[in-house]
Amino acid sequence: MPYEDIVSFMDSPSKEDITLVKKACLFAEEVHKDVKRKSGEPYFNHVFETAKTLAQLKMGAVTISAGLLHDSIEDGVATEECIRKEFGEEILFLVNGVTKLGKVKYRGAERHIESLRKFMVAMAQDIRVLIIRLADRLHNMKTLQYVRPDKQKRIAMETLEIYAPLAYRLSIRKLSRELEDLSFKYVDPKEYEETIKLLKQKKEETLPRLEKFIKSVKKALAKEGLINIATDYRQKGIYSLHKKLDSKDNDIEKIYDILALRVMVDDVAECYKALGVIHGEWRPLPGRIKDYIAFPKPNGYKSLHTTIFTGDGSIVEVQIRTKEMHRSAEYGIASHISYKENGNKNIKDNSDINWFRQFLPKTINFAKENKNKKEVPTWINEIVDSQEKIKTDQEKTGFMEGLKEDFFNRRFFIFTPKGEVVDLPAGSTALDFAFAIHSDIGIHTNSAKVNGKMAALKTELKNGDIVEIVTKKDSKPTSKWLEIVKTNMAKRHINNYLDKQKRK
Ligand code: MN
Repeated sequence: MPYEDIVSFMDSPSKEDITLVKKACLFAEEVHKDVKRKSGEPYFNHVFETAKTLAQLKMGAVTISAGLLHDSIEDGVATEECIRKEFGEEILFLVNGVTKLGKVKYRGAERHIESLRKFMVAMAQDIRVLIIRLADRLHNMKTLQYVRPDKQKRIAMETLEIYAPLAYRLSIRKLSRELEDLSFKYVDPKEYEETIKLLKQKKEETLPRLEKFIKSVKKALAKEGLINIATDYRQKGIYSLHKKLDSKDNDIEKIYDILALRVMVDDVAECYKALGVIHGEWRPLPGRIKDYIAFPKPNGYKSLHTTIFTGDGSIVEVQIRTKEMHRSAEYGIASHISYKENGNKNIKDNSDINWFRQFLPKTINFAKENKNKKEVPTWINEIVDSQEKIKTDQEKTGFMEGLKEDFFNRRFFIFTPKGEVVDLPAGSTALDFAFAIHSDIGIHTNSAKVNGKMAALKTELKNGDIVEIVTKKDSKPTSKWLEIVKTNMAKRHINNYLDKQKRK
């Protein structure tokens, strides 16, 4: 039975969890019964693979079931009523969220990529919606060869520009790597092939020596009492190697982490001990020791990195971390702040965090209905509490700034009639929007239409408004405009223009 396959990846599921997943599985099979994918396989395969990815990411039974049902209304014969009746509000909320998100499309306007990413997050409302969407996209990318060539490119670009970076910021590295590599193949086939060739060649050259080296590392660590360790190596992603080659003048000899050795130990003290042992035995390359345990990356990544001369002429990057850090690095999200469900008074006053919290799984609100705490994996629950883990104020501010910059800022999303999205601070006017599209458009703004109706330039925009700017060649800024606009960018353009006029 297909559901058993999914259950096998779940983290100690309860009887109820299994029953739910089984029910969703049978339901999905039924509603997609007569539908086939472009590849000719049953549509059910798509939702099944999506759910399997979610189980591998250690999501709970509700999210997995929503993954199974995510296309049941759009591409199947189910109705909202029916899902509500059979599976309840929470699952319906997730299914609708995923469907809504699917309507947002990337149309290749590069300057708006960041807005689009933020928009996706704001629209998802619940982090689980975003994760289901990522799992859905993963399977769509794996079957992209069956899609019309002109569509392939658009979907691959969208994945590379929007979805893979989102997965990275949620620090689900495993997913972001896969999405990147799958899209790279379609976005730039020639470069893709070349990078693969290079990677293969380099791997053949390095791997035998690396395997020998792993043995000596284990021996050295065991001699100092570090016995309960795990080692493996990871191969750099194809797209990630390509990007790095670009920044290193295409010289593969300058890249030391194509194959990186990983050492996983039990606790933080052992991480530093292992680093000491390794540095005692092999000479490290100066300037390449990175302590991401004391200073985690903004997305929460923790590990010690060092690059050493192995003594047989090669140079290898070694990554040392606890097993727990390893798990978060592959699946986690912003894990250096731990989230406390029952609210911390200090956090209540912090509107930034509160905004962030709105985005956390709604399970917290739905919990009354299903009491299913496990729905949210610990790595998601580990978000917040700035006091304990982020030590210095500077670090704290840095982290919060990062969050704000990234996507937790209160911004409004406004659309052009073509569906491009522009994000603006709350309170911005139609004239701000004109300048945000392009300074030339701003300067020649004559009038504006908001949601299809003529509107004054000083009209304050609301989230989701569609705004059309009508320009005229002889329209020009007046000092009055300075009272209308809210953004600094628009003010700067207007002032520049007025100054120039004065000088003339
Ligand atoms: Mn789908």
